[in-house]
Amino acid sequence: DVQRDDCIQKARMQLPVFEEEHKIMEAIHHNDCVIICGETGSGKTTQVPQFLFESGYGSPDSDTPGMIGITQPRRVAAVAMAERVGRELGNYRNRVGHQIRFDASVGDETSVKFMTDGVLLREMMSDFLLKKYSALIIDEAHERNINTDILIGMLSRVLKLRRDMSCKDPAKCGPLKLIIMSATLRVSDFSENKNLFASPPPIINVQARQYPVSIHFNRKTPFNYIEEAFRKTCKIHSKLPPGGILVFLTGKGEINDMVRRLRKRFPLKKGNSYDDVAEVKVDSRNVDMEAEEVDFSVNDMIDDFSEEDSNEEDEEEEEGFEETLEEGQTAEDPLYVLPLYSLLPTREQMKIFEHPPKGARLCVVATNIAETSLTIPDIRYVVDCGRSKERTFNEDTGVQSYEIRWISKANADQRAGRAGRTGPGHCYRLFSSALYESEFAQFSKPEILRMPVESVVLTMKSMGIDNITNFPFVTPPTRDSLRKAEKLLQHLGALDDRMIITNLGQKMSRFPLSPRFAKMLLVANQQGCLPYIIAVVSGLSVGDPFISESEIIQRGEEDEENEWRKQQLSKLNNSRLLFTKLDKFSDGLQMLSAICAQDHIPRAGREKFFETNFLRPKIMDEILKLRKQLTYIVKVNLSKESIAVSSLVKEEELKLSPPTKVQVEAIKQMITAGFIDHVAVRADLVDKNIKIPNNAPITAIKYFTLMPTSESKSDGFVYIHPNSVLSKCGELPPSFLVYESLTTNSASATNKLRMRPLTDIG
Ligand code: ADP
Ligand code: MG
Repeated sequence: DVQRDDCIQKARMQLPVFEEEHKIMEAIHHNDCVIICGETGSGKTTQVPQFLFESGYGSPDSDTPGMIGITQPRRVAAVAMAERVGRELGNYRNRVGHQIRFDASVGDETSVKFMTDGVLLREMMSDFLLKKYSALIIDEAHERNINTDILIGMLSRVLKLRRDMSCKDPAKCGPLKLIIMSATLRVSDFSENKNLFASPPPIINVQARQYPVSIHFNRKTPFNYIEEAFRKTCKIHSKLPPGGILVFLTGKGEINDMVRRLRKRFPLKKGNSYDDVAEVKVDSRNVDMEAEEVDFSVNDMIDDFSEEDSNEEDEEEEEGFEETLEEGQTAEDPLYVLPLYSLLPTREQMKIFEHPPKGARLCVVATNIAETSLTIPDIRYVVDCGRSKERTFNEDTGVQSYEIRWISKANADQRAGRAGRTGPGHCYRLFSSALYESEFAQFSKPEILRMPVESVVLTMKSMGIDNITNFPFVTPPTRDSLRKAEKLLQHLGALDDRMIITNLGQKMSRFPLSPRFAKMLLVANQQGCLPYIIAVVSGLSVGDPFISESEIIQRGEEDEENEWRKQQLSKLNNSRLLFTKLDKFSDGLQMLSAICAQDHIPRAGREKFFETNFLRPKIMDEILKLRKQLTYIVKVNLSKESIAVSSLVKEEELKLSPPTKVQVEAIKQMITAGFIDHVAVRADLVDKNIKIPNNAPITAIKYFTLMPTSESKSDGFVYIHPNSVLSKCGELPPSFLVYESLTTNSASATNKLRMRPLTDIG
């Protein structure tokens, strides 16, 4: 008895998923969990909730009165899809609502609720059994974000509990149905995971009509992909037959620029105009940030772009331009250019579904949203920059940052597929096939494996999941690493002695950083130390900026350049003396000095500065970039008022003068706070039998670690690393040290366990 608009009903019937309605509902009827795979655009998100609704789910007078919930990884999709499904449901439109954090349109009459996966996770904290739902659809499961993965793990448990309850007392609480939807066929991690489902859930493949898409790689990979995207789009528009163009870029800034340029290049006819509405401002402290919304000075990348590099593809050889304009088209026709990214108001986003003005070609410039979340109709040409903004983490240091990265081959295929929905299409990849083969991973890694385990654990604890080691992960980290992570979090004060999250832990969990660094930044918000700690954290994250003595020794040839080597070493020592002026015992402060010093050297003089001071230019540069990112993250997380997420941090803002004496002491304590489990004490202070020989080299002085280390090969002591400032301090080294990490040099005969000290503790 749903009365749909004719036009909508016609469109629905064209969707591949429509033919599978019976099969899908049959499977859901007989199974508590069902997996549905189907190409983007096949109708999963808009239709499956309606199938459920029409068979009685979410109807108060049926035996499945609970709501139908649909989760989306992106806020945009939750809002847009709720609106669409409402419209499709005609006379029942008021039964559809959405909920994203701080914005909801749900009410008593809501039967179909679209929400972000974060919202459902929070609901589970207060009602683990999710009694108000009779069916839950986890959409876009192929993306494997951490929220979705965790949800599927938890829901696998809820299914059993709800089944048991309903067997005991069906009147009180019915069973729950779980539908996992994926745009790819790669679902074995869910379906064949015995931890999740004792017997594998049925998989329904929706056969989509997909037309062939010709792929055209650039011959060379232009560094300035934005420029290349502009050029390519202009060329497509002025040379090729009708059909929409979809351009993939990485973020709002890039997209707005591109839209502006394209609109200017191919203006609309008189009488047509754009009525853009300003973007939505979200309170970035509270809203679940999505990677693409974090706006850094991406142009840093473009700054390095040199003109020689500029590679206009050779016109003759450029692929994919064999067709020509159709009759009636001209090279200067108007182009109807629309942006699409998450912070755009819904009304603006929905314009992609409307018809462009007569005689104008549609061109959408979008982020990843257009990859699988929203299907834009009538696209024939895809321009793919091959990159996306991603939350990434450095495996060595565990620091998360937001970076523009190459996408995976699977993603690139998805993007190309967007061009083949309504007819044969073309995909222009702004990178070479050689690069694609060598740099692009087959699939992107699940987010849970890209994050440091301790961040995963902290995130889960902040969601109220206490028993982590027995959690049914889709892709589990090792038990040992989970236990270690819990211990570390306890040391940092994020968990109490019962392994329950503390207030501090809650605050730490909001930082997209490894917990050590989150802790340092949280304690650093005093005595004006924050910018220094940001610099230290950046330095520790990126890596050692100092070129070591041993590297210089290796540089020279045997004997013949002995003089040169000596000279270099003495220069190096002089420079290091400069950087240890602040403090002679702390490697952390030595690094901070080098970073502060750099701030006062104009860009043009930096190369020379790095050279004379034996600093690694690339590392120093990375540190500067990360400082910008961290400054931004800290601003967002510590500010009292809401600030616009687009705020860019300028280099000028970072400029640091040397810290005062009081600050130096404070900084040492703050570093210690992040490495409280990494304390070593000089062995002679603990054990009276251990004596330090008068002429012992500093690197032979014995220390004990306060916490047991897992290293078994050593003699039970740890020693100062020769690269540390302490090795040259010329006096008895401090009683207590905080170290960053322990290393063994397997090449050396002594096999000593060496620590990389950060600071002494006064
Ligand atoms: P899937 O989830 O399988 O990727 P969807 O259900 O999102 O597919 O989309 C099915 C179809 O509905 C697509 O052709 C898409 O263009 C269309 N569609 C989605 N939202 C709207 C809308 N707001 N207006 C018009 N068409 C829409
Ligand atoms: Mg979908």
